[in-house]
Amino acid sequence: MRAVRMTAPGVLEQVEVPNPTAGPGEVLVRVGAVGACHSDLHILDAPAGLFPTPMTLGHEIAGTVDTLGAGVSGWSAGDRAAVYGIIGCGHCRACLRGNENQCREIPVGGIGLSRDGGLAEYVVVPASRLLRVGDLDLTQAAPLTDAGLTPYHAIQLAREKLRPGTTCVVIGIGGLGHMAVQLLVATTAVRIVAVDTSVAALDLASRLGAHDVVQAGPDSVDRIRTLVGSPPDGADVVLDFVGADPTLTTARQVVASGGQVLLVGLAGGTLPVRPVADEPPTLPLETSVEVPFWGTRAELREVIALARDGVLRADVQTFPLAEAPEAYDLLRRGEIHGRAVIVP
Ligand code: NAD
Ligand code: ZN
Ligand code: ZN
Repeated sequence: MRAVRMTAPGVLEQVEVPNPTAGPGEVLVRVGAVGACHSDLHILDAPAGLFPTPMTLGHEIAGTVDTLGAGVSGWSAGDRAAVYGIIGCGHCRACLRGNENQCREIPVGGIGLSRDGGLAEYVVVPASRLLRVGDLDLTQAAPLTDAGLTPYHAIQLAREKLRPGTTCVVIGIGGLGHMAVQLLVATTAVRIVAVDTSVAALDLASRLGAHDVVQAGPDSVDRIRTLVGSPPDGADVVLDFVGADPTLTTARQVVASGGQVLLVGLAGGTLPVRPVADEPPTLPLETSVEVPFWGTRAELREVIALARDGVLRADVQTFPLAEAPEAYDLLRRGEIHGRAVIVP
């Protein structure tokens, strides 16, 4: 079959590989759609040895059940499913609580992270990773598993502060961010301020229900403050889907005292935390910072329910498998709006 693999660090190419077969407890899935996540670019850019090579990338997968491995029940050929990407150890304290995204066994296993992913005609996954998607289009179902799930989990962590009448600044309206805006609209009554360098991303945010948009630039902190208030007032919650130095600086300068910053983006920036009132303070007093990772299987089920209800819909741009490397190039150049989805 055809697969798009990281054959060496930084190298993504389509190659022929043998068809995989499902082992005990596993299912062979015919891939219907795979989202192109910005994390795949971080994986390609990672130093040699951090991720296995060669490895088929793609951790945002939806497809149809093809064949069942020994001992699998509850699924039949043709069933449509989304794939939960994390494979926790299953027996640590976090996994036992259902928080496989906090698995204590490092590195946490993942489909397209520690073993072959979905950028191929077929992928093998543990049967326990499959969730039913009903009649959702598979190009819609795939982005739910990460671009939908990750912001949903972050919003769950901030739910206590996302009360009616509060403000939430969302930085980075790409694959994850454009889903975050919809999730905030669907599940809260907060005022949403969307921030991005790209005008097209901000247009998308407005269409999806953001109340205000601010183009990131030298004056963005001042402009956000006119919307959310100046210190010690500010945004109750800041969701940073970039995580670079400039966005983290913005986050700490616009968050309110007692507010919450959720750092989701993995661009490698630094957020200094120092409990003294220097000029400007590194973080307002009583502010908390969280570093969410992906989400839980139970949360993915809720995200799928929101999509089936029609209140969450990825803005997708589709590409055939052969064009996956080109889709990632466009993603790197900031030329994808919403989510790029590969259809093998
Ligand atoms: P994306 O490329 O689709 O979107 C990024 C958006 O940020 C784009 O709209 C871009 O214009 C905007 N942006 C870039 N620099 C900016 C800046 N300085 N100021 C404002 N906006 C800026 O990426 P994505 O797939 O949505 O992923 C976002 C980040 O989240 C990536 O770093 C990815 O690796 C990470 N991620 C983390 C988790 C997690 O569990 N923590 C899960 C998935 C993705
Ligand atoms: Zn991802
Ligand atoms: Zn575990």
